[in-house]
Amino acid sequence: MKRDGAMNSLWQQGMEDFQSAAQEIKTRFYDIIIVGGGVTGVTTALQLQKSGKKCLLLEAHSLCFGTTGGTTAHLNSFFDTSYEEIRSNFGEDAIHLVANATSRALDLYHHNIEHYGIECEYEQKDGYVYSRDQKQTVQLSKIFEASKQAGVDVAYTERIPVPVDFHQAIVYRDQAQVHPTKYVMALAREFEKAGGVIHQQCRVEDTVEADDRVTANTSLGAFQATFLIYATHIPPHINLLHFRCAPYRSYALAVKLNGNYPDGLSNDMYDPYHYYRTQIVNGEKYFIVGGEDHKTGHEENTEMCFRKLEAHAREYFDVKEVVHKWSSQYFEPSDGLAYIGLLPGSKGNILVATGFSGNGMTYSHIAALLLPDLINKKENAWAALFNPNRLKPIAGFAEFIKENADVVGQFIAKRIGTDKISELAEMAPGEGRLVKFEGNRLAIYKDENGKLFALNPVCTHAKCIVDWNTAEKSWDCPCHGGRFDIDGKVITGPAHKPLEVVQVMDLVK
Ligand SMILES: Cc1cc2nc3c(=O)[nH]c(=O)nc-3n(C[C@H](O)[C@H](O)[C@H](O)COP(=O)(O)OP(=O)(O)OC[C@H]3O[C@@H](n4cnc5c(N)ncnc54)[C@H](O)[C@@H]3O)c2cc1C
Repeated sequence: MKRDGAMNSLWQQGMEDFQSAAQEIKTRFYDIIIVGGGVTGVTTALQLQKSGKKCLLLEAHSLCFGTTGGTTAHLNSFFDTSYEEIRSNFGEDAIHLVANATSRALDLYHHNIEHYGIECEYEQKDGYVYSRDQKQTVQLSKIFEASKQAGVDVAYTERIPVPVDFHQAIVYRDQAQVHPTKYVMALAREFEKAGGVIHQQCRVEDTVEADDRVTANTSLGAFQATFLIYATHIPPHINLLHFRCAPYRSYALAVKLNGNYPDGLSNDMYDPYHYYRTQIVNGEKYFIVGGEDHKTGHEENTEMCFRKLEAHAREYFDVKEVVHKWSSQYFEPSDGLAYIGLLPGSKGNILVATGFSGNGMTYSHIAALLLPDLINKKENAWAALFNPNRLKPIAGFAEFIKENADVVGQFIAKRIGTDKISELAEMAPGEGRLVKFEGNRLAIYKDENGKLFALNPVCTHAKCIVDWNTAEKSWDCPCHGGRFDIDGKVITGPAHKPLEVVQVMDLVK
């Protein structure tokens, strides 16, 4: 199973790419087009198809190619933005709504898995959060109090599952964990059984809203529907939401331990925090450790993030072997809550679900419950809270986006000599680097056989400069999270045009 990075996640192990039942295009008219075949798109598509709508799901690569293939799949009833922060940013009613939404999202996992008999190593577990110093303990007590007020089942606890010294700890009951790609692919099969259609390797290039319909122009031609949902993790093209969401990367290891495997979901309170859980895959136990998050394109050596994470894992756990390591991208919303609803700028027919932080496994299911209600004009108490058109940017966020935005003028070179590149940069095989060339920058990569690839590093989305991701071997845009392979092709993110290729040739002969 393919994913949007060079490294293999635990969820790719033994998994094949999804084979769609629809081998040819029979119709181009639907009630709803869902764009994106991750957990959000597939779960939402199934909900809509089951409610009697005729749905089409379009995926640019294959199902679970995006962050769903690189998640760690803790299913939590609390978010990275704590109940305390939500209360302070959005008021007291908001925490009750969030508690209700997360609880309904977790119920939907449970329902789907029971109802469809899905074998996806799903287990209900407790979720622990613990402090390691006095400052964190003060913060933890506020989180506890706000969570209690929200009505979440939470308590102080004397023990945590991981062998880490802690000051104080709280436990959230009835959390869960799942094998995400087994779950999503099983739901996709249910979607097809219910009459839904999936086309993979189909990129939506643009959309046109007219006469109360949406036309999606794709790499497989045009499709039409009454509604279209962008479940693409971040919507494409330039949208207000790109200035309300910032791309981050997070790192994960799946390791074998000597001795006992901790039981439960845990995380500490550092920024970025570490997160841990155990997962059984096909009868084998793996301990998953995550963390070392940073803004996309802001870490020169992403390999180093894995080294730090492994050193952390070895400090606290008796690690026998690191079996998988991988990283992936998520989007941080400016005010701490996801954006689920009408796409800003849409005339009323395009919806979106984005800004999920590190909680998209839960948010995906909130989206799968909320979006059908919005489409069916059914009252939903969460609608205003998650409305993408709400105006609630947090002070400092605009600065943060600006700080990222390394926007440049047009790049002009169309070709460059190999001798020039060698002069510009001494590069090891497998290395990528930005170099200065004729007053502009050039993105160059040398493959394992010494072949050179050169690209114009100006991101085709909003003209920021991409940076090399050492570990996942991709060019990543720090502004809005567009990612490109060594040939310049779009991997993920809001860009839909490739980076411009600069021909590398022997010009001296
Ligand atoms: C390392 C890591 C660990 C995480 N751990 C957790 C966790 O423990 N718990 C939790 O709740 N959340 C977690 N998250 C977040 C969560 O995994 C994501 O929010 C979630 O997987 C996003 O799912 P999605 O379906 O919205 O997006 P994706 O899985 O990214 O799917 C989007 C899909 O859209 C497709 N696409 C994009 N553009 C187009 C286009 N133009 N046309 C057609 N298709 C397109 C892509 O190819 C992709 O397959 C984690 C994130 C990271 C990075």
